[in-house]
Amino acid sequence: MPASNYRVFDGHNDTLLNLHLAERGGGRSFFIESEKGHIDLPRARRGGLAGGFFAIFVPPVDEYSSSAPPDDPNAPSVAPPVPALDPAYAKDFTNDLITLLGNIEEQADGQVRLVRNIQELGRCLARDVLAMILHFEGAEAIHPDLSVLEHFYDRGLRSLGLVWSRPNAYGHGVPFAFPASPDSGPGLTDAGFEIVQECNHLGILVDLAHLNERGFWDVAAVTDAPVVVTHGAAHRLSPCSRNLTDQQLDAIGESGGVVGLNFHVGFLRPDGLRDPDTPLRVMIDHIDYMVDRIGIDHVALGSDFDGATMSQYLGDVAGLPKLIGELQQAGYDDVALRKLTLENWLRVLGDTWR
Ligand SMILES: [Zn+2]
Repeated sequence: MPASNYRVFDGHNDTLLNLHLAERGGGRSFFIESEKGHIDLPRARRGGLAGGFFAIFVPPVDEYSSSAPPDDPNAPSVAPPVPALDPAYAKDFTNDLITLLGNIEEQADGQVRLVRNIQELGRCLARDVLAMILHFEGAEAIHPDLSVLEHFYDRGLRSLGLVWSRPNAYGHGVPFAFPASPDSGPGLTDAGFEIVQECNHLGILVDLAHLNERGFWDVAAVTDAPVVVTHGAAHRLSPCSRNLTDQQLDAIGESGGVVGLNFHVGFLRPDGLRDPDTPLRVMIDHIDYMVDRIGIDHVALGSDFDGATMSQYLGDVAGLPKLIGELQQAGYDDVALRKLTLENWLRVLGDTWR
């Protein structure tokens, strides 16, 4: 099959925040092709994007006026620790971004849909409707008594990252550092263990991206769902604190879970530099490594579009066929490519959602 015919389901983007910040600056529209950012509907169509996890990330209050991408690690230097967020501000900001997502769905004339279960996702794929999964990158908006978790579930929340790279009531995000271990501090709080169980109960996917290593092992020990990292890469190839050790990769594979490859060049390059002049081969190296280690059923894509620095040879979402072409040249056959681009995410979501 030609590379441009593959349909891609993607584990992570920061498009909602990017659009929200652009709106304030006079912006870009999701429906009009732009040279800014990485995802809009015309480019998503061209790149074969079938859907993905659309993250809500709440930036620190003092950075809210800037458009600094959330995964911007200033690699290879050590970024200063990011302080905790005010939960009330996080909740308001999160509700605003969910409303933005709802507005996109409303204006899309049936071309975009927020999906809440695996049947809806299947219908979107069958009808070529772009499927959006509502994901929180950090649980600050959810009060530790968990009273608002159901409110957000009702608004469509189906995937929750407990932390971004900062501490909160549930756990400790791993600060950006290179080279550095992901083992950077204590594990989950009591509230962290409780929210994992409540997510299991509701059928919300728990995302372990950005969690420090002890937190990762705490979630892996208590969750009854597959272990998932929506956007990550191999620490063995690029020793960034955000990347996954071999043992973490093994745990993902053994649980029936999946890791989505983060496209951020600073997490892929062996030198940790955030240099767009990075060949696609570096992405293939991480996929090869993870597939060799844990198997083709447990590796997928998690681009971090609109939140990270892409290889200039990929560019944006419209460049996905270039990555697939490179994978074909590296020897991935049709069965393997379907798993990498779409089927592994569908399996894990089917196993996790109620
Ligand atoms: Zn991220």
